[in-house]
Amino acid sequence: MLTPNLTINAEGHLCIGGADTVTLAKTHGTPLYVMDENMIRENCRGFARVIREEYGGRGMICYASKALSCKELYRIVDSEGLGADVVSGGELYTALQAGMSAEKIVMHGNSKTNTELQMAVSRGVGRIVCDNLPELKRLDQIAGEAGKTVSVMLRIKPGIDAHTHDFVKTGQIDSKFGFALETGEAKQAVLAASLCPNLKLVGLHCHIGSQILDTEPFAEAARVMLRFMAEMRNELHVTLPELNLGGGPGIRYTEEDDPKSFSEIVRVMLAAIKVSCAELDYPQPFLLFEPGRSIVGGAGVTLYTVMAKKTIPDIRTYVLVDGGMCDNPRYALYHSRYEAMIANKADQPRDEQVTIGGKCCESGDLIGEDMPLQAAEEGDTLAVLATGAYNYSMAMIYNRNPRPEMLMVKDGEARTVIKRETYADIIRNDI
Ligand SMILES: *Cc1c(COP(=O)(O)O)cnc(C)c1O
Repeated sequence: MLTPNLTINAEGHLCIGGADTVTLAKTHGTPLYVMDENMIRENCRGFARVIREEYGGRGMICYASKALSCKELYRIVDSEGLGADVVSGGELYTALQAGMSAEKIVMHGNSKTNTELQMAVSRGVGRIVCDNLPELKRLDQIAGEAGKTVSVMLRIKPGIDAHTHDFVKTGQIDSKFGFALETGEAKQAVLAASLCPNLKLVGLHCHIGSQILDTEPFAEAARVMLRFMAEMRNELHVTLPELNLGGGPGIRYTEEDDPKSFSEIVRVMLAAIKVSCAELDYPQPFLLFEPGRSIVGGAGVTLYTVMAKKTIPDIRTYVLVDGGMCDNPRYALYHSRYEAMIANKADQPRDEQVTIGGKCCESGDLIGEDMPLQAAEEGDTLAVLATGAYNYSMAMIYNRNPRPEMLMVKDGEARTVIKRETYADIIRNDI
């Protein structure tokens, strides 16, 4: 099995977190997202443990909530002691409504609006990560008007190739995010930020990309950032106490993926920080790390009902389901690969090769191509695995398909954490 929380019961049904997915699909309808709470909690602890054991707890894990944002998830990560990374007013609002303390929130975004900045300042968000000089100026003014001093970090492009898909690479110089190191832009930003009367520059941030399966890019990011921080100390006499290394640890989407464990990633990162700090005679910074996908990705599955099977001789076989790009646009966006299985035939061999097609009026509405699958029949329950990250959060109502319900399973018991959208919800804002 792809992740340890997936099992097969005596009836040959796929179970997640001890709950029978076939029963869940029957009682709640499909498409249906199912998340495993224990696995999410275990993932939160995995990151935090290493920082506690090997860095004296001088750090904070901020869950990157763009991977999956809903009130219950903020409650879960909050109760595990994590902070949250938000990238919009909407995510910030959801986190605050869920009771998360603003102090533990890091606000990102390369194009934040004044409304979003005002909201972050007035609610007391702990750190705002500035992306560009116009934003820095606007934030300084907004903070001044509110009579507050706001803690900021600067988003830096460290110029590291993270060996991942072009669309999820973010650390290279040709990126819309942040200030480049090579061009002198980053140094200029440090100078500008330290001159803003209403801002307190507390540190630097970088995020080199997503679905990174190796440890070395994280270590390299730490080295590059610390070298730059030491340079800023030497040249501008600015010593910054915090370093935020972003997110990006990869997960196992298919049996071929072999990601490094959280503890290995954080351990390698911490080792690089310690060595660099010793070499540069720089004080070891308070560390922020922002994993998203790796907290929730493997903890989720999506269940669909098979509506039809269409075999085109000598070409391919389509298995058509009652969801698709509306609830999981990742194949359409990045050609991301997934494993799927027929949940009610989970004990049978996956000896057919199929293309899974969705219900939208788009030929590109696929969950995947050349996927091994059990012999599918109309009415079967199809499970797509490792859909906990960037599925619900990217879901849309194209073709006016309501967004699915989400269940949270804990020790075999399921509860609804996001209700299924209704047709009435869909026309709510139509005049
Ligand atoms: C997307 C993002 C993350 C999380 O990335 P994952 O690959 O999901 O871990 C963290 N920080 C920033 C700034 C991001 O943009």
